Amino acid sequence: MTRGRGKPAEFIADVRSRYLDEVAAGAKLGEAAVFVGVHRNVPARHARTDATFAAALETAKARGRKARQDRTAHDESRYNHLGCRCRVCRTTATAARTGRRGSKGREAGGQVLNLGAGRESPTSFSLPSPSSQENPVAA
Ligand SMILES: [Zn+2]
Repeated sequence: MTRGRGKPAEFIADVRSRYLDEVAAGAKLGEAAVFVGVHRNVPARHARTDATFAAALETAKARGRKARQDRTAHDESRYNHLGCRCRVCRTTATAARTGRRGSKGREAGGQVLNLGAGRESPTSFSLPSPSSQENPVAA
């Protein structure tokens, strides 16, 4: 006799295995459940009572995240949000950051960025002359 208390064995090993494959391939959890023909709540419910499955699901989710990342374009967003440190992402992110930091005159790689070079900008405000600053204590 099968153990079961009136509930169908809807999430059998074969289905679990296909579900994990879908998740590992980058499918969203709900999509993977629908794909293998179970309700979207079933895998999570099963994971609560099956530690082996729960662990496999975590592994599959991590692989799925990576699979989704691999389908994302390499750019600043990928560098910032997905932690990609490949040359393309680093270069793009560095260029974008440098552009945003431009006005701060920040040092970059030991070189001071000379952002004012070549720009004709006469001082448009005048500093107070030393004589106009009275010092009541010294006087
Ligand atoms: Zn990258």
